[in-house]
Amino acid sequence: MIYHGFRTPGFALMLVWRIPPSLFLRDTSLTTRVLITGAAGFLGSHLTDALLAEGHSVIGVDNLCTGSMENLKHLRSDPRFEFFEHDICLPFDFGKVDYVFNFASPASPEDYGRLGIETLYTGSAGTRNSLDVAHKYQAKFLHASTSECYGDPTVHPQAEDYWGNVNPIGPRSVYDEAKRFSEALVMAYHRYRKVDTRLVRIFNTYGPRLQSNDGRVISNFIVQALQGHDLTVYGNGSQTRSFCYVSDEVDGFLRLSRSAEHLPVNIGNPNEWTILDCAQAVLRVTDSESKIVFKSLPIDDPSQRQPDITRAKQLLGWEPKIDLETGLKLTLEYFRSSMPFSQLPEEKPESASSQAS
Ligand code: NAD
Ligand code: UDP
Repeated sequence: MIYHGFRTPGFALMLVWRIPPSLFLRDTSLTTRVLITGAAGFLGSHLTDALLAEGHSVIGVDNLCTGSMENLKHLRSDPRFEFFEHDICLPFDFGKVDYVFNFASPASPEDYGRLGIETLYTGSAGTRNSLDVAHKYQAKFLHASTSECYGDPTVHPQAEDYWGNVNPIGPRSVYDEAKRFSEALVMAYHRYRKVDTRLVRIFNTYGPRLQSNDGRVISNFIVQALQGHDLTVYGNGSQTRSFCYVSDEVDGFLRLSRSAEHLPVNIGNPNEWTILDCAQAVLRVTDSESKIVFKSLPIDDPSQRQPDITRAKQLLGWEPKIDLETGLKLTLEYFRSSMPFSQLPEEKPESASSQAS
């Protein structure tokens, strides 16, 4: 047995995969060996599944600061998956790879608010270390950027040629500026070091494996509804987001990874919702009697967000297929099955109105 990536021996015994030594001797010349940073996260774990399903072998790298091994537990016996518990802010080299997908970064406002300095380092030193691996092995590189590069946009919807409206010193700046620096670094490695890079600007994505406690709106609302608690709408709920279901989003990543496009491409669902309408949709889908309550709006919370996906359609033939209510139902099933039984509300007796509908 070989253990990858100790943090502390006790912790590692609990979390780290046991890999048969024969794996290190295998001939990988015929397979594509893909490295995914942030593999234990929401998007990274779905991307891992998609690439394994395509027949590639995958190396997952993650320091578990916001991700969870729960997201990868179904791969425990898949010999094509290796996991290294490692902070990408420290240099790494896990052998030759053909493709690097750089997805590591705290991503929810609550997480990057708590891990501000780590987020800045992950976007700078971490992205640099990931690019160095791609450069060393002449691997292709795809970086997970974000609609937050547009900040609180004054142009609507947001196309890739909009440069954004970001407060460089506000509470969201640790994330927004880290991601903007990452984009600059990726383009510099492309221009100066000839790395074959891609940049995806991801808009709000949701689905199974969102952490129930990372504060993002869809997971918050679903968990609140399932627990019979009030749904917390920040501000008056008139701010907008455009929510993309995770399978659509990952399809966009894969298409972009196979394209030759080096400039940023928006991948997101252009269907725009106010947050208040989104709360009401969650109440409908969960058949919940929870109330909506209003809380203060976080500083610099973008007032509107909607991707212009013309480039994705033209370059990749991509557009999303799953509407919000369908995606919410799929996500709800996941939360129902993964939340501890004790946290779920009592089953309601069937009401006359639900029998009639
Ligand atoms: P997530 O928090 O679930 O996943 C991020 C993963 O990165 C976690 O597993 C975390 O432990 C890991 N990580 C963070 N810093 C690290 C470091 N220094 N070294 C190693 N691992 C580290 O978030 P997510 O929603 O899956 O986001 C994945 C990527 O997509 C992020 O880069 C994020 O900025 C980007 N993105 C996501 C969304 C979205 O709606 N989910 C939107 C825009 C951009
Ligand atoms: N939001 C909300 N209630 C919550 C969580 C979030 O009203 O319980 C709002 C938040 O203020 C923002 C939107 O929902 O306007 C999306 O928030 P999220 O944290 O999911 O992502 P963001 O797009 O802000 O990065």
